[in-house]
Amino acid sequence: MNQLELIFERLTPFLSRKPPQKTKYYTPLFIPRSTFIPQARQKFDFTFEIKKQKTVSYQQDQIQIHFYGPVHHRKKLQSGMRKFFIDQSRRFLFPKVQHYAQATGLQYRAVRFKNQKSLWGSCSDLKNINFNIRLLFLPDELIDYVIIHELCHLIHMNHSKAFWQLVETHCQNYKHLEAQLHQANRYVPKWLFAL
Ligand SMILES: [Zn+2]
Repeated sequence: MNQLELIFERLTPFLSRKPPQKTKYYTPLFIPRSTFIPQARQKFDFTFEIKKQKTVSYQQDQIQIHFYGPVHHRKKLQSGMRKFFIDQSRRFLFPKVQHYAQATGLQYRAVRFKNQKSLWGSCSDLKNINFNIRLLFLPDELIDYVIIHELCHLIHMNHSKAFWQLVETHCQNYKHLEAQLHQANRYVPKWLFAL
């Protein structure tokens, strides 16, 4: 038996004397117990457990999402929920961005997903593109349009005639989709706006 094993051997009786921690579940009022994410083609069930730690994390077991940490702390829970939706966006939206970047030949530097207050997407002159996590709830054609729109900003950092011409080469019915996008908040569950 080496030194470390010996120490552990002596510690074990002491450690096991600690009573097992009781699971404390919590029901936040501003978040439903389940939500359907259209892009995931799936409904997810949420559970919340109060645990002593600095931030809220989550564990995923198929459609079961278990949030744990200071879940009774509104701001910390919101930040944990955002993390969940950012991860879902990476999983379900990012492959679409990669697809359209390849198809159009418009190359970005980095893509980030954020809980943006009013924009569906944005593009910086450093060729970094941000997309809103709320896109997860929009119909496919609108998501595709937002992606193409932001990719075209990699060439034209404005809404000039040249910009719209480029958009049109990759998306013929962009005018219709742009108009649709102005009413697209209706696809997003209300509680998401509180994140
Ligand atoms: Zn734009």
